[in-house]
Amino acid sequence: MTIPAARSVRSVVRSLTRAVLVVTLASSAAAAQRPRTSIVRHPPARVLDCTAPCTDSVTVKYLGSGGILLRHGGDAILTGPLFSNPGLIEVSGVLPVHARTDVIDRRMAAIFPDRQGIAAILVGHSHYDHLMDVPYIAEKYVPAVPIYGNATMLNLLASWPLRGRLRSVEGTAGDSAREGTWIYPKAEGPHATHTRADSTVRFMALRARHPAHYLLPPRSRGWSLPLHVYRREQREPATEYPATAWEWAEGESFAFVIDFLDERGTVLFRTHYADTPAWGANGMPPRSLGRFDLAALCVGGSNTVAGEDSIPTAMLRRIQPRYAFLIHWEDFFVPQTADPRPLSVLKKAIGPYQQRVAALLAPDHWSLPAPGDVARFAVHPRR
Ligand SMILES: [Zn+2]
Ligand SMILES: [Zn+2]
Repeated sequence: MTIPAARSVRSVVRSLTRAVLVVTLASSAAAAQRPRTSIVRHPPARVLDCTAPCTDSVTVKYLGSGGILLRHGGDAILTGPLFSNPGLIEVSGVLPVHARTDVIDRRMAAIFPDRQGIAAILVGHSHYDHLMDVPYIAEKYVPAVPIYGNATMLNLLASWPLRGRLRSVEGTAGDSAREGTWIYPKAEGPHATHTRADSTVRFMALRARHPAHYLLPPRSRGWSLPLHVYRREQREPATEYPATAWEWAEGESFAFVIDFLDERGTVLFRTHYADTPAWGANGMPPRSLGRFDLAALCVGGSNTVAGEDSIPTAMLRRIQPRYAFLIHWEDFFVPQTADPRPLSVLKKAIGPYQQRVAALLAPDHWSLPAPGDVARFAVHPRR
């Protein structure tokens, strides 16, 4: 139970934070109107293709924001995409935001027609840019597939008629020191098509953490205050759909290890995916999981944390991926484009970020993709 005084203090704090956010977003919006600084993409706007004989391959398609489609043959995993892209002022919390079904339908037709065999939809945390479009996409385009995320996701979407498809990973996640439980999504629930023994795709959640969104003023001026928005958890089942960006509460954050397997259960290709940055031990897998094939690295948010210079270096050193695919870097407050500009808060940080990746991976082993780009990687079974 909450006493009224505590509730009113909380609502004052929330209103003040919203006011600061509106001012911050308004100044970001003004900055976004200025002539664009061109971003140097390394390698420039090039899509990776197999660097080795490619009789067996894994493809990853970038859908924008935290969305990727990872595919090996008839198995695929989708991570929460965002096609509605509400503007900066809309997401300040004072205006309604909603999934724009007309835009989603157009983007699905243009960049996401290949959705056969999707075994699961994974959502690392419940902010609008990772979860708001998922119910419509799941309902219309990816039927009968389980959706995995945090407990807040289940409570936010408690009024969704298809809520029976939602699963929490909070009880099965591992962390940087110990493995969690492998989940075989094709062997789960009433629509299971496989058993665990004959599943050729599986995943494991890992505990991660969401950093602040903004620094006020930006770190380059010395002292700064972190502004972390939409941070709360939703602890009770909501009776209505979230109506504002503010109501898409963050909840706990998770990264995922995604494995494609052969029929004997041998790992063919191991991917690390996160929709939050690889920050300290957050999202870091335990050493027992060994070397990875691909890291889908979230660039957004990496600029606001202490130790920024170790992102994503520490993660790349731990998992030693053959390839890296840099995601959630582009301005998602405007409609998707094949030639995106970076988030305004990343303009200075994205060059050094790419240099840190380039220090550890050869140029044809990593990419900063635009929405719709596809990379293809040869499979080398070695476990
Ligand atoms: Zn977020
Ligand atoms: Zn995000």
